[in-house]
Amino acid sequence: MVFTRNLIEKYNVDVFVAGGGPSGMAAAISAARLGCSVFIAEKNGCFGGSGTTGLVPCFATFTDRVNFLAGGFGREIHDAIFRSDEALGNGFYAYPVEKLKKVYDDMAISAGVKFSFFTSLVDVEARDGRVENVILAAKSGLFAVKAKIYIDCTGDGDLATWSGAIAEHGDESGTAMPSTLCSLWANMDFSQPDSGPQNRKIEEAYNDGVFTNFDLHLPGIATTSKECGIGGGNVGHCFEVDARDEASLTEGMLHGRRTIREYEKYYKEYLGARYSNMFLCYTADMLGIRESRRIIGDYVLNMGDFEKRAVFEDEIGRYSYPVDIHIMKPDKDAYNNFMNEYSRTYYGVGESYGIPYRTLTPKGLSNVLVAGRCISTDRSMQASIRVMPGCFITGQAAGVAASLAVAKEDTREIKISELQEKIVSLGGYIPNRA
Ligand SMILES: Cc1cc2nc3c(=O)[nH]c(=O)nc-3n(C[C@H](O)[C@H](O)[C@H](O)COP(=O)(O)OP(=O)(O)OC[C@H]3O[C@@H](n4cnc5c(N)ncnc54)[C@H](O)[C@@H]3O)c2cc1C
Repeated sequence: MVFTRNLIEKYNVDVFVAGGGPSGMAAAISAARLGCSVFIAEKNGCFGGSGTTGLVPCFATFTDRVNFLAGGFGREIHDAIFRSDEALGNGFYAYPVEKLKKVYDDMAISAGVKFSFFTSLVDVEARDGRVENVILAAKSGLFAVKAKIYIDCTGDGDLATWSGAIAEHGDESGTAMPSTLCSLWANMDFSQPDSGPQNRKIEEAYNDGVFTNFDLHLPGIATTSKECGIGGGNVGHCFEVDARDEASLTEGMLHGRRTIREYEKYYKEYLGARYSNMFLCYTADMLGIRESRRIIGDYVLNMGDFEKRAVFEDEIGRYSYPVDIHIMKPDKDAYNNFMNEYSRTYYGVGESYGIPYRTLTPKGLSNVLVAGRCISTDRSMQASIRVMPGCFITGQAAGVAASLAVAKEDTREIKISELQEKIVSLGGYIPNRA
């Protein structure tokens, strides 16, 4: 079938950003603050991506416990949500999701970013390694946006892939780590003790027939508001979901909504008085995708770099979080292997790895950058850099790089020293500069 239409060009801007998750917000706001006209298209009804629509309940570490690694944009988010010294360790920090949505709204508006919600990137017109237009679908129909630089922050690498970039997906067989339908719970009694990890009675409950899968890997319910008894749930896995395919995503949502009831029973009946009256308020409108495409860039950040705490001349930041590849199938061996890998890769105080600019420049494309969970890494590194503070670092760098690249409309025609200086002037952490 051939489909032909004349489209209006609704926006002509310096920088187009696809997707308003943590990386997209960091990219769009950073570029706008540096004087670029920016349009961002977000397919859902708020900014924040997995962290808001997806109800992911916590931020991972912002620091290496000495340095604030997600400095600049990440620091602003941290300070808007937490007390100044509240979330500086290497733990997980629960936040109120509505507050985060409003913070993103306010930042986008005050930076002068143009945007519309319920607006999906559906196609790209690219020629000879250059994107000429992107095609968006929204309530008003299809329209085009033209930009000098395009930044892919879709999490799935949609824009880069549709522009001709090479991508990898999941493990050797192409299977991605499981996704999770996150959830919001009320009426828990946090004055009651929680005696041990929340997976402590999974085996017993499984033997009692509560669970369909024997899945010991349970990140758990985080305390969002102690006073109100509210918690954010990161419970249950949907295995073998392919985020590139809406039929698979639909199956994942249905599976998540079915199995959340198994967790409700487990928490209420096995984990004691803290949970016995809990109430399921809401499951997310978006499946929590941990892994999909990894766009191949000029450099592929790899596990060797993680092991040696690598330093790069074109470093745009540094990060520190373990290799967090969730179990690929629900069994005890898979869980034990996960625990070994996760604890083995916890860095010491003050340790971090560098992130080169070349992980943001998709091979073969001259006016496209990528940021967030689909930057150019191997599978293990993706499982570290994918968390939200990591996405703030790569998103901010992509936004700053775009502001420098608009003059020549080429992401490789920028001075790395200038990029690094600008990132540092915004508060970014780059101790090793060219
Ligand atoms: C279950 C789960 C638990 C997690 N736990 C933690 C945690 O504890 N701490 C932590 O820091 N991180 C955690 N993460 C990781 C983190 O939430 C994500 O990796 C991170 O949000 C990725 O950011 P992103 O900007 O790359 O993509 P996303 O957050 O996924 O944002 C992408 C955005 O792009 C939009 N979009 C996608 N495609 C299109 C399109 N074609 N057109 C227009 N818009 C589009 C989406 O609607 C979305 O808003 C977790 C992730 C999951 C799934």
